[in-house]
Amino acid sequence: MATQRKLAGVRGMNDLLPADAPLVEWFEARVADWVRSYGYRQIRTPILEYTELFVRGIGEVTDIVEKEMYSFEDRLNGEQLTLRPEFTAGTVRAAVEHNLVYDGPKRVWSIGPVFRHERPQRGRFRQFDQVNVEALGFAGPDVDAEHIAMLARLWKTLGIGPVRLEINCLGQADERARHRADLIAHFERHADRLDGDARRRLHSNPLRILDSKNPALTEVVAGAPRITDYIGVESCAHFDGLQRLLSASGIAFSVNPRLVRGLDYYNLTVFEWITDALGAQGTICGGGRYDPLIERLGGKPTPACGYAIGVARVIELLRETANAHAGAGTDVYIVHQGGATAERAFLLAESIRDRGLDVICHAGEGSLKSQMKRADTSGAEYAVIVGESEVAAGAAAVKALRAPDPEAPFAEQRIVPLPDVPDVLVEAMTVTDTD
Ligand code: ATP
Ligand code: MG
Repeated sequence: MATQRKLAGVRGMNDLLPADAPLVEWFEARVADWVRSYGYRQIRTPILEYTELFVRGIGEVTDIVEKEMYSFEDRLNGEQLTLRPEFTAGTVRAAVEHNLVYDGPKRVWSIGPVFRHERPQRGRFRQFDQVNVEALGFAGPDVDAEHIAMLARLWKTLGIGPVRLEINCLGQADERARHRADLIAHFERHADRLDGDARRRLHSNPLRILDSKNPALTEVVAGAPRITDYIGVESCAHFDGLQRLLSASGIAFSVNPRLVRGLDYYNLTVFEWITDALGAQGTICGGGRYDPLIERLGGKPTPACGYAIGVARVIELLRETANAHAGAGTDVYIVHQGGATAERAFLLAESIRDRGLDVICHAGEGSLKSQMKRADTSGAEYAVIVGESEVAAGAAAVKALRAPDPEAPFAEQRIVPLPDVPDVLVEAMTVTDTD
């Protein structure tokens, strides 16, 4: 038979392999505890939405909608669909559809994949996970500060750092309109120094030029009018309120007047958390306030804010301290000699799991020696040997696999009556845990 060609995964979309899973699982467990500690509840929306949702929600003249969305026609019914490139639009769609804030504001969060057709490189993929947090129905700035404080706490819990915080205030629609007019005038005066992207955006979304990653534009961007000079008393008060709470909480930040964020719908507070440890893709989290969005997607006017964490970038930071979270193996690995001993082993494994321990029971064939090797590489603390002679005596042998101390329980292999094995292991594991 001709050998079949191997198939590869889609470019820019990664597999998480079992060896890398413990760190990701550790991260996800910390995240679940952390959001709960701030009273956030999970919301899960579909990965596919109607394309119109993102076009309306994110804005037509944005990187995402212009060139990064995986959009297609469902050939079975002709619907225009898009793989979600971010969470906020879908979350707001669900909130409006189910009238989520009818009885008061809501704190919600999600985790899962998003899709953007970008050039794959370090820290930039076409499918990547985000942790997304939204507070719907809160006018702030206390909730803006809550979001930033909870992120500061997460970095601390994860043990990553230093991560620096940049914040800015984008003002309200009318303030942005005046800023925008002056911005266009400024860039028109320097049109010869703009690149193609910037020239195309000059009249549709000049704010985005401030966000340009092209170093050739640095100077003309640096000379551009700053939104900070256009915001009125109320916006200022909001921004001051946020800064006061951050300072009082001991959270360091810098105000970056060039920080505008990629999406159209932001107003007032925007922020990013940036690390220097990851090269060019150093932003691990971005967010801000989007008061106009809910109305724009058909809901009643409702203030809201939120943020998204790039999971892959945080995991890369965590890898440096990975040993601490390498994830212990299983507690117990059971080996046997097939036939009746296999059945004994199977039942013994279940009864040890009844007692709350993690157990791998050897499946299939294999010599005792090769099984003991597997037991060792599994990371198990204890091996239980259910051999023919042991079973004949109504017992099993227990051996510690990684006891450095010869006095430790089961540093020497010992025979234990079968019914006692679960108890003996639970007790031994308790001793190991407190070491
Ligand atoms: P960038 O300026 O890097 O393109 P962005 O403004 O498009 O980022 P957001 O939409 O704010 O990113 O997404 C939130 C977070 O998701 C980012 O801060 C980043 O950590 C992560 N992220 C964004 N795009 C990618 C990607 N293509 N691959 C991996 N992570 C990403
Ligand atoms: Mg982007």
